[in-house]
Amino acid sequence: MFNKVQLLQRPFDDYLPHLPLGLADELQAVASNLHDLRFVHVNSTSLGGGVAEILRSMIPMMRGLGLKADWYVLQPHESYFGVTKHIHNLLQGQDGRLSNDEMDVYLGQAEAEARYLGGHEAMGDVWFMHDPQVLPLSQHVQWSEHERRLWICHLDLSAPNPSTLTDLLPLTHYHDGLVFSLESYVPPGTNGMPVHIIPPAIDPLSSKNQAADPASAKRIVSALGVDTQRPMVAQVSRFDVWKDPWGVIDAYRIAREAVPGLQLVYLGVVQAKDDPEAAEMISNVQEYAEGDPDIHLVHDADTLPAPVDEVVNAVQVAAQVVLQKSTREGFGLSATEAMWKGTPLIAGNVGGLKYQIVHGESGYLVDSSEEAGRYLVELLKDPELASRMGAAAKERVRQHFLLPRLLLDYLKAAQASLEAGTPVVNSPVPAMQDLGLSLAADGGC
Ligand code: UDP
Repeated sequence: MFNKVQLLQRPFDDYLPHLPLGLADELQAVASNLHDLRFVHVNSTSLGGGVAEILRSMIPMMRGLGLKADWYVLQPHESYFGVTKHIHNLLQGQDGRLSNDEMDVYLGQAEAEARYLGGHEAMGDVWFMHDPQVLPLSQHVQWSEHERRLWICHLDLSAPNPSTLTDLLPLTHYHDGLVFSLESYVPPGTNGMPVHIIPPAIDPLSSKNQAADPASAKRIVSALGVDTQRPMVAQVSRFDVWKDPWGVIDAYRIAREAVPGLQLVYLGVVQAKDDPEAAEMISNVQEYAEGDPDIHLVHDADTLPAPVDEVVNAVQVAAQVVLQKSTREGFGLSATEAMWKGTPLIAGNVGGLKYQIVHGESGYLVDSSEEAGRYLVELLKDPELASRMGAAAKERVRQHFLLPRLLLDYLKAAQASLEAGTPVVNSPVPAMQDLGLSLAADGGC
């Protein structure tokens, strides 16, 4: 089943005060050229994670620009998410491979779900298909000539598991173009398909990103158990292997030796249905925290003192420093959000974080927990440096990582595929050798 996410529209003028010169004019011009078309976004969850975050704001903004836009969420059997989480991990570099049974669930469920896109012509002209969860759908839909679909991959594909890449790449060929967050994520074997490099962005108007005033931020973090008289550092991320919660705790422990009384908040409220590993991860990280009363692991949505977006906002505002100690990160919207609030950031030297942060200017990039611990001490002991870095971080986001720029890039990609002539309509799966791929699992990527 597909669920349509119900959203309203947002006047585009609301964005104008936040945007760099020229962006609004360019976006409005491109949107007015495309106002006859119907745009559809499809993904696997309306709650939790970066893609849901983007779409929740992008659809109302598109409508505010006079575009017809809808968002549909896949509703497969729970077993599907177990498989797609495995695919997510493999594509981000985990060892192992997809079993035949997993592949059967993945392709079989997608085929069943694609039935609900029957009669889809009533739904859209340009389809934005987000992430591997919806990748196998397009091959089962009878597309008409005028339709275009772009597959948007939000993952860090810098070192993907070769066997999984080999399994999945043929499915990309049922699309008219591919979108990756960074140049370095473009896999071999795209076989001349149009590729667009489009980094994500945040919505400056969302309740999460309109920086909370410091007093209410303090009230909220205090309700989480934080002593607001003492310094606090934070990471806002799902409880996920790649977010390195253990490294966050290690860095905090190092810093606490030089900054007595330091506290840590790790905010990872579990909502995403497509993340079945979270519960196991939480108990693992709880054990690693060894009952330290100054480590606050926040995960239970039912015990929050305010709506989750307000809690995220408060934590990012109230923290002296925000960490994003990921070891893989497609982009890292949590980092962008903290930067937009002018909070200094220490982030893993990987993926999209490397792209967002200019090391030493708009934050610090680190390769180890020891390094993260050292920079934590530096920033905690030098508030003037911390505020200079926070201001530079905010300006970097304003120039490059706000939602209207992302929409402009999506629309340009759609426009390019509309102008490119005959689409790839229901073409047969290309043979692996035609993709320039070896079937051997040990090939480098
Ligand atoms: N987030 C949230 N509640 C939490 C933790 C994270 O709403 O408890 C949000 C966070 O603010 C960000 C998104 O989830 O908007 C995470 O996006 P990101 O790109 O950092 O990581 P992903 O989860 O997509 O890997």
